[in-house]
Amino acid sequence: MSKGRFGKYGGQYVPEIVMPVLKELEAAYEQYQADPDFLAELRRYYVEYAGRPTLLYYAENLTKYYGGARIYLKREDLLHTGAHKINNALGQVLLAKRMGKKRIIAETGAGQHGVATATVAALFGMECKVFMGAVDIERQKLNVFKMKLLGTEVVPVTTGTATLKDATSEAIRYWAAHIEDTHYIIGSAVGPHPYPTMVRDFRSIIGREIREQIKAEAGGRLDYLVACVGGGSNAIGTFHEFAKDSDVKKIGVEAAGRGPGIGDNAQTLSNPASRPGVLHGAYSYLAQDDDGQVIEVYSISAGLDYPGVGPEHAMFHDQGIVEYVGINDREAQDAFQLLSREEGIIPAVESSHALAYLGKLMPKTQKDEVVVVTLSGRGDKDVQQVARALGEEI
Ligand SMILES: *Cc1c(COP(=O)(O)O)cnc(C)c1O
Repeated sequence: MSKGRFGKYGGQYVPEIVMPVLKELEAAYEQYQADPDFLAELRRYYVEYAGRPTLLYYAENLTKYYGGARIYLKREDLLHTGAHKINNALGQVLLAKRMGKKRIIAETGAGQHGVATATVAALFGMECKVFMGAVDIERQKLNVFKMKLLGTEVVPVTTGTATLKDATSEAIRYWAAHIEDTHYIIGSAVGPHPYPTMVRDFRSIIGREIREQIKAEAGGRLDYLVACVGGGSNAIGTFHEFAKDSDVKKIGVEAAGRGPGIGDNAQTLSNPASRPGVLHGAYSYLAQDDDGQVIEVYSISAGLDYPGVGPEHAMFHDQGIVEYVGINDREAQDAFQLLSREEGIIPAVESSHALAYLGKLMPKTQKDEVVVVTLSGRGDKDVQQVARALGEEI
């Protein structure tokens, strides 16, 4: 099977019962991915509903602060719902509509993907169920309430550790039992084929816009692209367009959490201990123990707290097309405060990992070079948590 493979990674490792619906999805995506009507409708929602193109902002104060290359921020934080996740949710819901599906399901950990999915389900008048671990429901009350407000049913999952991994398994089980009328919106560039390709395509608008905008801003000069990596969708959306531009250095930033110990971070590619394995339908790098058990990973940032990574990143890692690095909780929190103070922009704690890498990169750069950091989301959702980490209760 070479379809849906990125080198040796990717594939479709799913229960037999799910195969027909993956085949159906694959066929639908092949039909519509270049269909002018489909793309025009998607474009209209990107522009009129989500707020594309997002700005490419020259961060002059941050540039002065570091004193090296010119720093630009790709402002995905300005999108409706506050992060890049809406790009994919809109693409998939439009596809589901074309396929005649009546119901949308999704899994969510922190609730960000759940809210993006609930948003597009409300917009298109589709029934929506979001599977969420009971522990996460307790931790993420604000997003749970938002989903309910948007008309979505939040389904508590109490099996296993009652977190994201279990919610995903439960969503797959539900999907298998409701194949005819249900589409499953996966929130990152992970899962079985065709998801990693499809999600990447919906997110690649980020990289395509950067190429256009940097022409106007910096005469096309671009030396570094930096993005954070959870499942890897905002990063692949940033990097894919530039995969063949070997003069553009691409850096994916993973969460180094509270240290290198097992279960203390969420690094899969920048961690020498991680090895390839199968998780949620695809073969890719995985945080696993010596017995091949997937380990519970940790990061201050709920959006980076995932033990796997998209298969295209696994290939880019092996081929040296992208360099993967780790940034710890402390460094991310410092970057969260730095961008707030220097630029008046409060970044998501996920995006703060990418921003924090500037502290290591900038001293090695020249003034005439250009760096673009993808600001994957805004930090309103994280203010309370960062305050607590700084010893302040609000
Ligand atoms: C979900 C999320 C991420 C991580 O997801 P990717 O698929 O790796 O992009 C990063 N930033 C924000 C703001 C998020 O909400």
